[in-house]
Amino acid sequence: MSDDSGTTKGRAIVFLGPPGAGKGTQAKVIAERLGVPHLSTGDMFRDHVARGTELGRQARAIMEKGGLVPDELVTAMVASRIQADDCRADYILDGFPRTVAQAKALDDLIGGRWEGPVVIDLAVEYNKLIQRLTGRRSCPQCGAIYNVLLKPPAREGVCDIDAATLIQRKDDEETVVRERMVAYDAQTRPLLEFYGGRPLFFEVDGDRPPEQITNTLCRLLVRAEGRAES
Ligand code: AMP
Repeated sequence: MSDDSGTTKGRAIVFLGPPGAGKGTQAKVIAERLGVPHLSTGDMFRDHVARGTELGRQARAIMEKGGLVPDELVTAMVASRIQADDCRADYILDGFPRTVAQAKALDDLIGGRWEGPVVIDLAVEYNKLIQRLTGRRSCPQCGAIYNVLLKPPAREGVCDIDAATLIQRKDDEETVVRERMVAYDAQTRPLLEFYGGRPLFFEVDGDRPPEQITNTLCRLLVRAEGRAES
């Protein structure tokens, strides 16, 4: 849905943070609590890959190597998604923006109505991130997530819920994880400076139990509510 200027009406809540910081987990829970859409660009690309679309074909090779899909492709995909009616109020962006060019494009898409997006950076120490990512396994049937190092299933390699064989995402393999970190440092970390001085930028300690982080985020978002509209 667009207003007269062609920009979206809703308030964007952006989850930043390196791979493995827990953005996806928190974004999903917060979206459920607030009853707003959770837009994960990684999920959108995985869906395109699974459906074998042209975009999926272009993204696939890049994703498997741990690189970033070109800005124009990502931005066009997000621009079209946030015009939908369900983004007229708040919506959560998980994994976008990932470069300064994407952040500038988001500012343009949001337009003058808001003071910019609410930005939450989840901060987690490097070695912890590597453990979280390389240890991550998921159930292809029910979607349950485990970690062989931090939260193993009762029986190795098997889902506690439905006994399906657990799988590892290709981009969670160690060499790919290191590449994703390199991409994060070079292209996404500069966003901390880009957003850092803004009143709606919040840094949150991501190295705590997930429920504690969720509570902090809920409190923050209530605080941001009053400040968001310009
Ligand atoms: P994620 O699930 O968010 O870690 O995303 C998985 C992969 O999708 C990333 O490693 C990138 O290859 C690609 N991707 C997702 N979001 C973006 C983005 N905003 N810009 C560029 N590439 C992206």
